[in-house]
Amino acid sequence: MTTAETAERILAAVDAAFDEQVTFTKELINCPSTRTDETGVQDLMYRSMESRGLQMDRWEIDSAELRDHPGYGPSTVSYDGMVNVVGSYHPTTDNGRSLILNGHVDVVPTGPEETWSRGPWEAPIIDGWLYGRGSGDMKAGLAANLFALDAIRAAGLAPTAPIHVQSVPEEECTGNGSLTTLLRGYTADAVLIPEPEENMLVRANVGVLWFKVRVSGQPTHPREMGEGFNAIDAAYTVMGELRKLEDLWNSEKSSHRYFEDLEHPINFNFGGIRGGDWPSSVPAWCEIDVRAAIYPGVSADDAWKQVEDCLHAIDLPITARKTGFYAEGYVLEEGSEAEETLAAAHKASFGAELQSFTTPGYLDGRVFTLYGGIPSLVYGPVSEAIHGFDERVELESVRKITKAIALFIADWCGVEER
Ligand code: ZN
Repeated sequence: MTTAETAERILAAVDAAFDEQVTFTKELINCPSTRTDETGVQDLMYRSMESRGLQMDRWEIDSAELRDHPGYGPSTVSYDGMVNVVGSYHPTTDNGRSLILNGHVDVVPTGPEETWSRGPWEAPIIDGWLYGRGSGDMKAGLAANLFALDAIRAAGLAPTAPIHVQSVPEEECTGNGSLTTLLRGYTADAVLIPEPEENMLVRANVGVLWFKVRVSGQPTHPREMGEGFNAIDAAYTVMGELRKLEDLWNSEKSSHRYFEDLEHPINFNFGGIRGGDWPSSVPAWCEIDVRAAIYPGVSADDAWKQVEDCLHAIDLPITARKTGFYAEGYVLEEGSEAEETLAAAHKASFGAELQSFTTPGYLDGRVFTLYGGIPSLVYGPVSEAIHGFDERVELESVRKITKAIALFIADWCGVEER
């Protein structure tokens, strides 16, 4: 257990470097890092870790082993040049519990930029909130990991267990970045991921499937429209049937622990739709991109089978294929040492008990928990409008989260005087 005196030194060190931490977070936001465009921000993360004396590792994420893994999400983009970055701290004295500090660099598209109040890659601070795409999800968390570790060292202390700081792509679409770190051999006694979770700990979260449904039509001239088959009209039928499957899964929530009290835990999102070639031709095709959630304990294979059965039951020319996430959900079992340690650190930073909750969103924590047997602590700051316009993160929350992470590192890994 960290003494009160060392805890005070650590907390003071977070405060002392917080302006620098915010500046670094702004630099991360200034690097647009939508899918396949993460090179700039990964270079920045690499340099930042290297300058801290961490032992660096950077590699392209693709491998045969990845593609054969049950947790692999089929990718629709090339992984050429897409890298993971890991910086490892190796202790002089090694007698504590090891830790992975994980964060993702990829961000979702901005949508129409003119609808943002300011440019999405600018990072203004207004009334205590830092704005920009990726500010909350999750560049504030990436910076918090690094600066929490800094604070330990700035306090004149050295952790007494290995720590791996991971900066990964592909969290918003497949989870293959984090999965690759595990396949490369990175493991630890706990993983902490500072996703924007409203100063709370994630107890349970859904898995996610991505797939594309294609409806084929029969093109004709509209003058003989009745002889054609309109693939776009038919897509409404497909979406209606998928909504019924969504209703069915939601109706089963009472048999899934931690999900009983959520209003609508299973969300199917029609995230994209394209079809047709010409206003005066009955459309020959329509494609719908779907994101579907599944409960922890439901395998991706089982859920996919139900989706396929749903689509096959529609008497229409339909094909479906996987296009990303093929991921199962997970539950953080109650009462782990990792959670107890985080709860104490949270209380010391926030002066309040740590709350946990269930989120109907995907998290990379499943990679570590399901395939590595590692407890995943997904815990991070207050944000608003992630994946929306004017995404923002609350800086005082980031400060307290950083303090809690720093205290967690000290307690979990142990520290000694440098
Ligand atoms: Zn995220």
